[in-house]
Parts: sequence; structure tokens; C-alpha cells
Amino acid sequence: MSPKVRSQTPTDPELLGCPRCDLISRIGGLETGEKAQCTRCGYTLLSQSEYRVDRLLAYSVTAILLLVFALTLDFIQYDSSGLTQSMTLLDAAWQLSYFHEKLLAVIVLLTVILYPLLYLFCLIAVFVAINMNASAMARYCLRLSAHVKPWLMVDVFLLGTLISLIKISGLANVQLKLGFWLFCGFVVFLLVTYYLVNTMNLWSVVGKRTTPSRDVKAGVTAHEQGYKVCEVCHRVVPFGVSDCPCCGDDIDRHWWRSPQATLALIVAAAVLLVPAHWLPIMETVRFGDAQPSTIIGGVVELWQSGDAPIAVIVFVASLVIPVAKILALLGLMALARWQTPQAVNHRLVLYKITDWIGRWSMIDIFVVAILVALVRSGTVMSVYPGSAAIAFGAAVVLTMLAAMSFDTRLFWREAKK
Ligand SMILES: [Zn+2]
Ligand SMILES: [Zn+2]
Repeated sequence: MSPKVRSQTPTDPELLGCPRCDLISRIGGLETGEKAQCTRCGYTLLSQSEYRVDRLLAYSVTAILLLVFALTLDFIQYDSSGLTQSMTLLDAAWQLSYFHEKLLAVIVLLTVILYPLLYLFCLIAVFVAINMNASAMARYCLRLSAHVKPWLMVDVFLLGTLISLIKISGLANVQLKLGFWLFCGFVVFLLVTYYLVNTMNLWSVVGKRTTPSRDVKAGVTAHEQGYKVCEVCHRVVPFGVSDCPCCGDDIDRHWWRSPQATLALIVAAAVLLVPAHWLPIMETVRFGDAQPSTIIGGVVELWQSGDAPIAVIVFVASLVIPVAKILALLGLMALARWQTPQAVNHRLVLYKITDWIGRWSMIDIFVVAILVALVRSGTVMSVYPGSAAIAFGAAVVLTMLAAMSFDTRLFWREAKK
């Protein structure tokens, strides 16, 4: 297998559209280490990196093996009053479904185990397909990996595990087992692969070469010229064409990137945040005495037990981020109508922060999943998921979808008027 992949851009300039501001640029002549950015918003359209396929393949395979072994071994062990219990990684999802929280169980299973596995398998398939000249398969797998990417939450789950440990460390003796350390290794290899893979460079290799009509001009938006920008491969596609000729993505599927859809998702998330904070997120039964606790109750408990930094993290992730995200998106939607071109970049920074930070709110859901799996059916203590858990999980997913559906191109379209 050829050890290195290098894109074809140096000899063959391409027209690429900016998915963020819609401006078309002509890109070519990049040397290794160089990158081409959109002149209007600074988005990196293409970077020229030379990377070793064999190394990326080795990282992906190692990550998969580490996860498979982590799934079969004990993750955390817990000793309290002579009773020893342990959980595996799969228990974090499985035990939730046992307590009729099937939807939450699916969210945990997908974001922590299945999507990361699918992402890695897709990348391996892309590299193998390139070597076998199976471009159609490479395109399909690269497209699939792009759709799965925003939903990988292994790092958030790891932080959730550490917070769970701190929460129960005062009540029981907790030990991290081999499964936990293998999972840490998996997270490291997954993140390294994630940041090393140059997706746009791969599209230059496996994407179908398209030659847009000669009248498409660089320096003008795609919208003004009757074109759309493919969100997956950033090629320019004429209005009326539903499948991108380069990557094959269904462009019309992005109908939900509209202000109405964003607003509907924000309102739904805001409504769900009320029961999420009002109802108990979990219930701890100690010596037969049930103690329901809300999200804020959990933060107060952590603070009073002397874990102030962790209390602050949970408070920010569970209350500040979801509320700030909703207010920020509403503000950005309103400001898109009354703004000056000079203010666009500030709003773009706010949007990028809003988009990036939202996934960290899942911490509380992962804490519940781990505690329920670890401290279950004990004679001394048991933890059960509360009715707020599903509302909170759904609110976090909806705010993430709202940020994804927000169309940043509105900033520039409205600013021009
Ligand atoms: Zn741009
Ligand atoms: Zn495309």
C-alpha cells in the first residue's frame, strides 16, 4: 500500500465554496504544509499535508482493538460495606435500558461506542478502497464518516466517568479497572486519528472530478450565481441538482438548515430544559431511604462535600452552557437581520464557540449512566435514573441540532442589504 497520500491540488486548481459564508475561491498550487483559507471568513478550505496512510491505519486499528478489549473487561469496581460490584462499559448503556430509559441508553451506546467504531471502520475502508481504486466505496465511507463525526463523544464520556468517581469516592472505595485504562487508550488513538485525517485532502483524491460551468466566478458567492456549496466536499453544485456530483451527498437533505428549523429546535430545547432542571435527574437509595436529586441539587452536594472545581464544571456544563447556547443562537438569529458587515466576524466567533461547546453538556447524562450501572441493586445503596434524565438528554441533543441547523451564510447575506 502506498504509504503517503497527497492531494492533486498543486497542478490542478479547483473551485471550492465556503460552507460558512458561501464565497467561491479558486484553490491550487498549495505546497506541503500550506493551507488555503476563505478570504472572507477565514474558513480553511483546503490544506496540503503529507501524511502516512499506514500510520493512520495502524492508529485506527489500534483504537478499535482497544475498545473491543475495553468492552469485555471490567471498567470500574466499587466496594462498600463489604459488597463489591463492578461495571463494564456496555453496562453504562445496558443498565439504563433496564430502568426503562431506552432512549437514553441508545444515546449513550451510539455516541460512546457505535459511532466511534463506525467512524474508524469508515476511515479504514476509505484507505483500503483508495489502494484498490474502489472510488465509489471510498466516497460512500468518507461521506458516512463526515455525517458521524459531530456525534463522537468519547472525551465527554471520559470526563463524565471522572466526575462520577469523585461523586461516589466519599461513599465507597472505587477502583479503576483495566477496561477503563484500555478505554483511555482508545480515546487517545481515536482523537489522534481524528485530528490527523485531512478530509478535504481525501476528497481531492477520491471525489469525482467535476468541472463547473465557466461562468462560475471566484470571489462571488455561490448563491448569487445560481449555485450551492456541498456541505460535505465543498464543491460547487448548480441549483436543481440534488446529488453532489463529486461526493454523492444528497444536497436537498439539508432543508433543515433554515431559520424556522433552528427556531423550532431552540424552542423545543428550551421547553425541555424546564422539566430537566425541575425533576430529579437521579435517585439515590441508601438504607432504604430514597433521596431524589436534581441537577442543581447535585451541584450543591458536590460543593458542600468540598469538590468545588467539579461542582463548577457540572454547573457550567448542565446549566450555563445549555441556557447560554439557546440565548446565543436566538441572539445570532435576531442580529443577522440588523447588523453591519464589520460585526460579522464577532458573531462568527460566538457561533463557533456555541457550536463547539454544546456537546460538553452531555456530561451529566454520562454521570447518571455510570452511577446507575455501578451502584445498582445494592443492599446499602442503589442509584436509579430520574425522570429529568431523558428531558435533559433530549434538550442537549436538540441544542446541538439547533447549532448545526443555524445557517451562518445569513450573516453575510443580510449584511449586504
Ligand atoms: Zn468563507
Ligand atoms: Zn459533495
